[in-house]
Amino acid sequence: MATGTGWTPKGVIVKSVSDLGDLRGKRVLIRCDLNVPLDGDTITDDGRIRASLPTLNQLREAGARVIVLAHLGRPKGEVNPKYSLAPAARRLSELLGTEVKLADDVVGESIQQIVADLADGEVAMAENVRYEPGEESKDEAVRGELADRYAALADVFVSDGFGVVHRKQASVYDVAQRLPSAAGGLVLAEVEVLKRLTQDPERPYVVVLGGAKVSDKLAVIANLIETADTLVIGGGMVFTFLAAQGYEVGTSLLESDQIKTVQGYLNDAAAGGKQIVLPSDIVVAPEFKADSPATVVAADAMPTDQIGLDIGPASSRVFASVISSAKTVFWNGPMGVAEWEAFAGGTKAVAQALTEVDGLSVVGGGDSAAAVRDLGFADHDFGHISTGGGASLEYLEGKTLPGLAVLDEGV
Ligand code: ADP
Ligand code: MG
Repeated sequence: MATGTGWTPKGVIVKSVSDLGDLRGKRVLIRCDLNVPLDGDTITDDGRIRASLPTLNQLREAGARVIVLAHLGRPKGEVNPKYSLAPAARRLSELLGTEVKLADDVVGESIQQIVADLADGEVAMAENVRYEPGEESKDEAVRGELADRYAALADVFVSDGFGVVHRKQASVYDVAQRLPSAAGGLVLAEVEVLKRLTQDPERPYVVVLGGAKVSDKLAVIANLIETADTLVIGGGMVFTFLAAQGYEVGTSLLESDQIKTVQGYLNDAAAGGKQIVLPSDIVVAPEFKADSPATVVAADAMPTDQIGLDIGPASSRVFASVISSAKTVFWNGPMGVAEWEAFAGGTKAVAQALTEVDGLSVVGGGDSAAAVRDLGFADHDFGHISTGGGASLEYLEGKTLPGLAVLDEGV
């Protein structure tokens, strides 16, 4: 990355690490996204940790004393060992080839002592920032108090947790107002790819949406209908679309209060000559369980007592053909409960189709990235695997991301 301006979306100019000057001996606080999926304390996909390595190594090589802030899961402002960053610190130590000292606390004596003892090029990590109630507080003053304590640990701040830049949180937003700040290489690289998706994408441009954060993702559709040529819908949100067409959805995920909005989307798409592709068949089961017996039913004939857990095989074929003939594809959210073999078929078909795209294919989202790796695909099979689902979607929606905008307004 050249010195000076990193990039300029919507008038925002962000500094890169090289703009922070000589970092030798400086205490550099870096927000990373190390929110990895865990099975007990085993990391099942370390993609986000790997993606954090280049900037961390850049800082170490510059002689900085590095202090990592990160979150894991949703401990909701309480200390809870289940959400300890210990597994992430261990994995980061292995990948960096040097010990990462994990504090017992977020901003207390333990991290202060570790920081005081840090040598140039060494790396320390505070515990899960979401142990602190101030981290996600809606009250700016409460967040500010915590951000003051983060800022007291360091001389400069680097924002490299792309997956959280859409969050107005103390370790993402408020701390950047208190220290000289810059975007890390991961954030800059992610934004480069998103720029290619928003500035004159090669057409046809297909956006594929799935996953479980239904209400969040429904909100982005209004904008995507305008920019993309085709929207392909699977995963949990599909049932709100099927309900909007008057179909039974059994016990599937459903946002009843969004049905009217979704009907509006379907009308808008039809009026604007855009295509919304929905599944014609669904894999259902009696229970939300890995070994619940699966059957395939037509999308307009779901039994009342069954839950939809994947798109069906006929839908997979149609989705794959729409995707593989596109020139630009952005995909966020598994097509079904891909963690379970019996309900991974749709996600596998979509992932396979993305690898066949002759153009730019982007996978975004923690669970989506984990799913494609788990299903045996390699990172290089895709144009780009983004570490942030929500952040990517909000960027594509045209929203200002607080964690990026603040880097311009910062000290
Ligand atoms: P990402 O992290 O890629 O942005 P989300 O977090 O929104 O994706 O969603 C991922 C989760 O969605 C997965 O754990 C998957 O099991 C779940 N999911 C997908 N389809 C369904 C469905 N039909 N019913 C319930 N959960 C689903
Ligand atoms: Mg997720």
